Amino acid sequence: MKKQTVIRRKKTRAVKVGNLILGDGQPLRIQSMTKVPTRDVSAVLEQIDRLVEAGCEIVRVACPGEEDVKALGKIKKKISIPLVADIHFNYRLALMAIDEGADKLRLNPGNIGDRDRVAEIVEKAKRHHIPIRIGVNSGSLEKDLMKKYGPTPEALVESARRHVAILEALDFHETVISLKAADVPTMIAAYRLASQKFDYPLHLGVTEAGTLIRGSVYNAIGVGTLLQEGIGDTIRVSLTADPVEEVKVAKMILESLDLRQGVRVISCPTCGRSEIDTAKLAQEVESRAMKLKGPLTIAVMGCAVNGPGEAQGADFAITGGQKKGMIYAAGKQERVVDEKDLVNELFKEIKKHKK
Ligand code: SF4
Repeated sequence: MKKQTVIRRKKTRAVKVGNLILGDGQPLRIQSMTKVPTRDVSAVLEQIDRLVEAGCEIVRVACPGEEDVKALGKIKKKISIPLVADIHFNYRLALMAIDEGADKLRLNPGNIGDRDRVAEIVEKAKRHHIPIRIGVNSGSLEKDLMKKYGPTPEALVESARRHVAILEALDFHETVISLKAADVPTMIAAYRLASQKFDYPLHLGVTEAGTLIRGSVYNAIGVGTLLQEGIGDTIRVSLTADPVEEVKVAKMILESLDLRQGVRVISCPTCGRSEIDTAKLAQEVESRAMKLKGPLTIAVMGCAVNGPGEAQGADFAITGGQKKGMIYAAGKQERVVDEKDLVNELFKEIKKHKK
């Protein structure tokens, strides 16, 4: 049995989002965002269903116009996870989003302009117990901060501090903060600084991280480094890809640090010794394993060199031979199976033992 690494998480204040609590040592939550116009309710619901099935726990939708905000109520009625309305400058849309049942607003109060309008949003958010996420982004920093600091960690934190000050002046403390940058070292330094300055929960992410592989690597390094230091309460892996991929990568980041016990598929890199198609088998196992509940470790090993050792340490395993493979369960050899049947037989074995 693998020894668990325990990461001591930094203490933040508890902020309730729908039926979940962010911060205060509560489980790290995975978020994503839909990528179709919010006014297209059926398309949004189709994405949210797939996101929830993949493990998404909070979903955000863009609300650039009135039609999008009006769709929130219909979406909210059909989903079971908290719904976040992403509002940029329009205070009326923020008020409407609360009426439509949004569980949280993503909004920067400094961008609303008129303080009376901000006060109106805050009063309504307080009455409905709706938290606000301040989302500072290196690409949209205030002009004076850019002039003074450039797109630095200090500028990101100072920008967040200004927005926080507006909310605190109105006695509002149901706040979550993100400070995203596309540059990973800047993002890491900004969150480290923010975790010293604020006690609000932090929403981690690398912005504009790129396509599937690049974005996954950048997020794994940026978000993973911070999580390892105990920083962060919720994560969103931004990818230029299907949002389900964001959730898969986020789960893998948490699992890699033992912050969540999921289904872990370990597979050897394969080499000239393998006489089965290890890469294809591992891919098939990985995609079918996504639907299983953890904690569970499955090993897919190309041959008998390192195979038996890894297989014995996993809950279930395949080790390759000559166009055949051995199925392992609970570290014990079960039977030899033809290559074409290996994945099906492995999952039969898993089903049998998981009953
Ligand atoms: S387990 Fe076998 S096939 Fe896989 S990398 Fe090691 S030696 Fe190569």
